[in-house]
Amino acid sequence: MARKINFYAGPAGLPLPALERAQKELLDFENTGMSVMEISHRSKEYDKVHNEAIELTRELLGVPDNYKIMLLQGGGNLQFAMLPMNILHGGKKADYIVTGQWAKKAFKEAKIVAGDNARCVCNMEGEKFNRLPRPEEIKINPDAAYVHICSNNTIFGTQWKNWPDTKGIPLCADMSSDIMWRPIDVKDFAFIYAGAQKNLGPSGLVVAIMRNDFLEMCSDKLPSMLQYRIHADKNSLYNTPPCFSIYILRNVLAYNKSIGGLGAIYKNNLKKGELLYGCIDKHADFYKPFVAVKEDRSYMNINFFLPTEELTTKFIDEAKKNNMVGVKGYRDVGGIRISAYNAVSVSDIEALVSFMEDFVKKSG
Ligand SMILES: *Cc1c(COP(=O)(O)O)cnc(C)c1O
Repeated sequence: MARKINFYAGPAGLPLPALERAQKELLDFENTGMSVMEISHRSKEYDKVHNEAIELTRELLGVPDNYKIMLLQGGGNLQFAMLPMNILHGGKKADYIVTGQWAKKAFKEAKIVAGDNARCVCNMEGEKFNRLPRPEEIKINPDAAYVHICSNNTIFGTQWKNWPDTKGIPLCADMSSDIMWRPIDVKDFAFIYAGAQKNLGPSGLVVAIMRNDFLEMCSDKLPSMLQYRIHADKNSLYNTPPCFSIYILRNVLAYNKSIGGLGAIYKNNLKKGELLYGCIDKHADFYKPFVAVKEDRSYMNINFFLPTEELTTKFIDEAKKNNMVGVKGYRDVGGIRISAYNAVSVSDIEALVSFMEDFVKKSG
């Protein structure tokens, strides 16, 4: 079997053991003689998978008891609308920190929902999103019902390591592209959400974690599928959930636990970053990093440029010949983007770095 070394930005690679488990269990799930896609979402066999996915999320991230974990649909994008729809009723306002393309989209959707009650309190687009704001560049309004950030800038490659100080205002984060890349303190947030297709599982599925007091603030005047309260009350079984996606999520999380949880994953991710940025910095006149401030560099998405377009195209082609796919930069950014999510191993990055060293030698 020829598996690629997968550096796609999303959907992205999944841990092989999680896929192999799915392959093994596909036709006869838990001795039902059916696949998990073909049985009732009210069956005890499915129920077990569903709750295991939720419990593993709680365990791996250390989600405290006063938070609800929801498994939702519609991808990260629907959360951009659902959050303001649920919270910004009765004239409530929210502040958005715009540090990249996805953060900007989240703000745009909030404006559709709440008009001028959605406020952009920091916008890094003037600097092409190539660094994170310094504390004094963020002007949070004391009347904000929440502050929204995107923890990892998937497209441009910046990543928050320390959260902005919101002075007690509930912090909400889109963690679609770096959830579970390291241990975090969930208590720092009122709401965390993540589309699954980067670090957790199949696209479409969203893992959402909301503190109970924030949940209490949510509207009960929305269509049922858009109400967090209903999904939380029904343990994400209000309607038929995406059973197969949740099953894969369970497999990924069970695998994550088996290798030592987020502590071990973080160690791997640090090692990967050290290797790849080490190579980039060593050849700084050839591989030019996009992000201007070292501390702001993402461990998940690493953007850099080569000296010419010709070399960039050659790099992409030769990477492919070396079994590596997904290295082409995002269309608005160009250059090279390596997405090194959790399923990318240290040895995958070692292979990449060795390829990059050879490439400099040949072309530098
Ligand atoms: C990929 C991504 C999204 C978009 O998610 P969809 O599931 O395609 O809606 C949102 N936010 C971030 C940070 C992402 O990386």
